[in-house]
Amino acid sequence: MKLQRLEAIRKLYFSLPLVPRDCPLCGGKSGSLLVRRDRYFLPIDVVECTDCGFVHASRNLDREGARQFYTSIYPWLIYRRPRAEAEYDLQKREQAAFRWQRILARIDRPDSVFELGCGDGHFLAEARRLGISQLAAVEPDSSSRAHIIASLGPETDLWGDLSDVPQKPLKSQLIAMFHVLEHLDDPLAVLRQLATDFEGWLVIEVPDLLGDWSMLGIQNFHLSHRSYFTPASLRALLAKAGFTVLHEEREGWETGIYPGNLRVLARRDAAGGDIASPDRPNVAAHIDTILHPWSLRTGYPRCAVRLTRLALS
Ligand SMILES: [Zn+2]
Repeated sequence: MKLQRLEAIRKLYFSLPLVPRDCPLCGGKSGSLLVRRDRYFLPIDVVECTDCGFVHASRNLDREGARQFYTSIYPWLIYRRPRAEAEYDLQKREQAAFRWQRILARIDRPDSVFELGCGDGHFLAEARRLGISQLAAVEPDSSSRAHIIASLGPETDLWGDLSDVPQKPLKSQLIAMFHVLEHLDDPLAVLRQLATDFEGWLVIEVPDLLGDWSMLGIQNFHLSHRSYFTPASLRALLAKAGFTVLHEEREGWETGIYPGNLRVLARRDAAGGDIASPDRPNVAAHIDTILHPWSLRTGYPRCAVRLTRLALS
């Protein structure tokens, strides 16, 4: 195992080239540099697009590199607690119940749910507890898919890739994406695919670049995160795909999934949207205030220690 991890680290730093990447919102090719290196010191060049202000990694893995990264490196780099661990399971179930509580405070209970990137299926399991019968999801991790089938039964429709999903699940009354959008190379293309003939609600959670993620520090910047959303830029991306944000929640320290969590509910081509669009926020100033790259607690030194421990464990 140790040799496998050391080989994965070698691959991460020396065999997986980072290639230039245009702005995922407007296609712009230039931006002002905000953060050069991610938490593992990889040069992903997080920039604010000169043309539209969208914050994104302007260098990242190509398609094959991303495939190798997500299959052989990401699972242990992120370290997921064992699903059999009771405390982990309880935490995930409470998160799912909280999400449903927030959603049902805004909309009627749907009869069908499609989740993109469902992990171990806690959100779907809570939907089942609420009496929602039609459940469908995409989850690339095959062990998670097997776990869901074992716990929720074979009537749950699961696929490993969005391109394999037939039309019907995509017409569910609620489509959910929790901390998925920031990982996608082309989030606009995925949202446009979801928007095709869709008449339900879309619920999305992403990290809020303007939130208080000071306790995360440089950990907030990661090779696997390709987009860094503000409430305004998420609305802009959704609008370009044909969605209007009708409800928006930003979580802080006291309540919610975690500080700096941004949740929106959107509909396709809906009228209105009572959320004001502020001027382009000063993300550079916010990052300067919160990010202390050489802090022992939230900076590169802590990430280096963590990576070393993971590699040698
Ligand atoms: Zn742009």
